[in-house]
Amino acid sequence: MSDYRRDERPGRGRDQQSGSFGLGPDGMCKCPKCGNKVPHQRGTPCAQIKCPKCDSMMFRE
Ligand SMILES: [Zn+2]
Repeated sequence: MSDYRRDERPGRGRDQQSGSFGLGPDGMCKCPKCGNKVPHQRGTPCAQIKCPKCDSMMFRE
């Protein structure tokens, strides 16, 4: 219930993020096993992302 996220609204420019591209306000997904981190993808919960290294399900950091 508390996991609801608003998607990025269309019409708002994305190119305001200069410098920290890929590390936006959506944060990172972290692997509990090996500690690997990947940028959180909009619209895809971290719990549905597998760690590319060890294939474990990741969580939102
Ligand atoms: Zn891992």
